[in-house]
Amino acid sequence: MAAPEKLSSKQPLPEPFEGLRIKEDRYFPKTCANCGKVYVNLEEFVNSTIPLPKSSGLMGYFDNQPNPVVALFRNCSCGSTLTLLCLNRRDMSEHGRQMRRLFDQMVEGMVQKGMPVAGAREEIRRFFKGHKTDELDRLIKK
Ligand SMILES: [Zn+2]
Repeated sequence: MAAPEKLSSKQPLPEPFEGLRIKEDRYFPKTCANCGKVYVNLEEFVNSTIPLPKSSGLMGYFDNQPNPVVALFRNCSCGSTLTLLCLNRRDMSEHGRQMRRLFDQMVEGMVQKGMPVAGAREEIRRFFKGHKTDELDRLIKK
């Protein structure tokens, strides 16, 4: 088959996916259930699939995990959405630590303004994912 662009497995993960590793090795090779395309590893998966429109395709779960679990959504070239569970290494970078600190501070700030913890965490997750959060807007403007 013709593969003009060499999508070698050595290709590094692009920016937002840096530091991710798959939660379980058995995820690869991953086969698209719709068209049968096979992805041999995470690098090839990220580099050969199409990002979801208006989303990084990453959804993080911070709760009670030694490592945050990240769900990674990508579209296969056939249009089917594929999901992988990854781990994000907590200590991978100063940036990650800052983001977690910021997350905690934002939750605390919202709780102090009268929001329940669970709701605050949900809002801030949405915010981190780039969604508009009316609740957060409202609290920040207070
Ligand atoms: Zn497919």
